[in-house]
Amino acid sequence: MTRQSAPFYRLLGDLSDVPDEYIRDVSHMKRFLERWTMDPKYQQAFARDPAAALADLGIDLTPADVIPLMDREAAMEATRLVRAGRAAEVPPAVLRYRYFIHEKIEHRRRQRSETIPGDPRLRAWRDRMINRCIGELGQDRADQIVHAPAALELSKGCTVGCWFCGVAAPKFDSTLKYTEENSQLWRDCLGVLGEVYGIAARSAFLYWATDPLDNPDYEHFLADFYDVFGVCPQTTTAQGQKDIERTRRVLQLAHSLNSPVDRFSIIALNSLYRVHEGFTPEELLRVECVPQNKESAEGGQIRKSNAGRARKFAKKRSGELVSAEQSSTIACVSGFLFNMVDRTVKLISPCNASDRWPLGYWVIAQGTFEGADELRDLMRSMIDETIRDSLGVLDIVRLRSDVRIVFGPDRLRVASMGLGLAFENQPQAAELAELLDAGTYTVEQIALRRRASAGVPPAQTLAVLDRLFLSGFFDEEPPAPESTAPESTAPEATGLLQLTATGRSAG
Ligand code: SF4
Repeated sequence: MTRQSAPFYRLLGDLSDVPDEYIRDVSHMKRFLERWTMDPKYQQAFARDPAAALADLGIDLTPADVIPLMDREAAMEATRLVRAGRAAEVPPAVLRYRYFIHEKIEHRRRQRSETIPGDPRLRAWRDRMINRCIGELGQDRADQIVHAPAALELSKGCTVGCWFCGVAAPKFDSTLKYTEENSQLWRDCLGVLGEVYGIAARSAFLYWATDPLDNPDYEHFLADFYDVFGVCPQTTTAQGQKDIERTRRVLQLAHSLNSPVDRFSIIALNSLYRVHEGFTPEELLRVECVPQNKESAEGGQIRKSNAGRARKFAKKRSGELVSAEQSSTIACVSGFLFNMVDRTVKLISPCNASDRWPLGYWVIAQGTFEGADELRDLMRSMIDETIRDSLGVLDIVRLRSDVRIVFGPDRLRVASMGLGLAFENQPQAAELAELLDAGTYTVEQIALRRRASAGVPPAQTLAVLDRLFLSGFFDEEPPAPESTAPESTAPEATGLLQLTATGRSAG
């Protein structure tokens, strides 16, 4: 059922029940806001003569319809009226557009919560990576990361060459052709991905440091993905304007396969003009036009991540980038990154871009494969060798470097930018802080020390450590190639505890 409750309709699924005028309201509002957000000259034209500016753009709405979505005061007034039960006084187009945005936010949240790896180790690891990202990047930034299961590149390099490319795509080299042999390999590899990750692998997408439209056979690979997983992966392209007829065919294909959201990255104002000339507002109802053009940053509202190639321009184009102190990454996969041309696969997870991880994601393991059987073995060995689903008593625990510890006589609190955890009833909390801060003790050693010096039952200490582990506070960053794991320095490294730290509540 598309209909929710009168007068609202869901727009990310089947549209056959949705009245034309409803789709027109939302898609025309969307088009107006795209132009208004990205084009300062259009803002000036609208300020001079709102009705003429709308007519020039072919927008079938009045100034009174659009103002509550572009003017702060008017937006607050519309919200107040809705909350006071006076929604009838707000233009229907405003309410419908807001409902559409709400639906998209809900869709993203659902996508994230429904991506549950079948492998229990991957599942526990992904949950920790989500928590770590909240702590490391802050809640707002972390909310935008879906922790998708996989990204599959169908080319090597990218022809677009954006200066701000957050994953520093190399120059275009070649693409994977849709030959009989490659199509079989593709389907087999998707099968392996589904086997190893689980059915939630269907939330993967077919680009990363690549533009999907660089591959002339993209449509075939997309259709195959649908055949294997029963869903259409999201397309994001910066070349929507390049060959309008091809783009239209891709969108029609995606639409016929029920793709809920696709995206055009608008890297120059001219591209927006061409997109708006080439497609009707209704055709782009479910295509987000992401503002990446220089003019969009002029008001200071929309800034790009300081990750990947953008880091080289941190000084020169600082007005268009988030500051170095703010968290930055565009990576959104906690899972597998494939390049089908090179036949490589990496296990990755987002992180704040840094000198060590300039692309804004950790590479935890990587390898190459020739065929599907080899890929299966490789992915399984990556999981076996690098991912743990629980904290073992002999594991050394070390807090992430961005985590701070605050303690009182009986209370200890760990905190990071986006997440904090407090533990009450911890006698001699200073000692626990010291043991955690050292980063060289095993779970067992900490539990024994706490029992000996503060009389804390080991089960209670294990529960504290386990909660820290599950909340992503312990350092799981892959070791630098030259570094080795720290050696245990505590005296009591004996096998007392035949326990695993599985407690789910802490003191
Ligand atoms: S941002 Fe996208 S389109 Fe631009 S260079 Fe990077 S991968 Fe290519």
